[in-house]
Amino acid sequence: MSLPADLMPAVLDALPDPLFILSESGRYLAVHGGNDPGYYHDGRILVGQSVEELLPADKAAEVLDQIRQSLRENRLFKVEYPLAAAEVKGLESADGPADMLWFEGHIQPLAERIDGERAVVWVARNITARRELEERLRRMSVIDPLTGVFNRRKLLEVLAERFAAHRCDDEICAVVMIDIDDFKQVNDRYGHSVGDEVLIAIAEIGRGILRENDLLSRFGGEEFVLVLPQTDLDDARQVADRLRRSVIEGLASHFPDIPPVTISQGVATMRGGDVSHEGALCRADHALYEAKRKGRNLVV
Ligand code: GH3
Ligand code: MG
Ligand code: MG
Repeated sequence: MSLPADLMPAVLDALPDPLFILSESGRYLAVHGGNDPGYYHDGRILVGQSVEELLPADKAAEVLDQIRQSLRENRLFKVEYPLAAAEVKGLESADGPADMLWFEGHIQPLAERIDGERAVVWVARNITARRELEERLRRMSVIDPLTGVFNRRKLLEVLAERFAAHRCDDEICAVVMIDIDDFKQVNDRYGHSVGDEVLIAIAEIGRGILRENDLLSRFGGEEFVLVLPQTDLDDARQVADRLRRSVIEGLASHFPDIPPVTISQGVATMRGGDVSHEGALCRADHALYEAKRKGRNLVV
């Protein structure tokens, strides 16, 4: 059984996602469906106008390109793109979500010409929730959940990148290994949750003193690693010493009832003879061990 033809307009208008008929030259020939203002804006006012009149230049160019590609290859073409109502002329104050949205566009060439021009059917599905979830998962895969700094996985990834830049372009890079002094005592005396708060505070202090391209990561337990691209040993030592002092001051004001908590640090740089990033990491670890041996609260 097929639906009576006079029902088709109602069916089109009840499509859950908006459907645009777009000509090859980028004109909106028809708009149907997508009536729920929780997800979409009413796009019917766009009909008769072109993407170049309605969208920012770069986005209009992209849409035209995608229409043409779908027509050229004569197949279903899928794209994902961000778009906010504020970017579409005429939709600025329309009912619907105000934030930047993500859409998945499914573009199918139309068999018939309209007014002598080729055209496509473009269905746009709001996938903002999925994109946000993906973004959260991406973040979770590189962020340490307790302290909010990068995790060991991300550290090793960045170190490998820096090592490649070191080997190919002679770029220098310093690595600082950081370990909290006598941290077991903090846990034993004040409890594990206070220990956790100290870890969070140190990460916060560390983030506060870093430059944009520096990377602070939690290496594990109460150890952190700092990657300082384009930094030589002297400068890295200064950064480490600034961190050392900031930790003492910061923790004293965060935790006035706890005796001073300090950190020891080992600093190293990538070197010509290294075969991987492990070299610098290993030397920083040895230097850290030396800082502990020499009495802690030191940079070696
Ligand atoms: P040192 O100065 O030689 O580094 O002494 P330390 O007491 O810090 O020595 P060690 O590295 O052996 O102890 C690390 C302690 O860190 C032991 C462990 O219970 C604690 N720790 C590791 N991860 C966490 C964490 O996520 N939260 C808390 N609260 N403690 C942790
Ligand atoms: Mg340790
Ligand atoms: Mg320790």
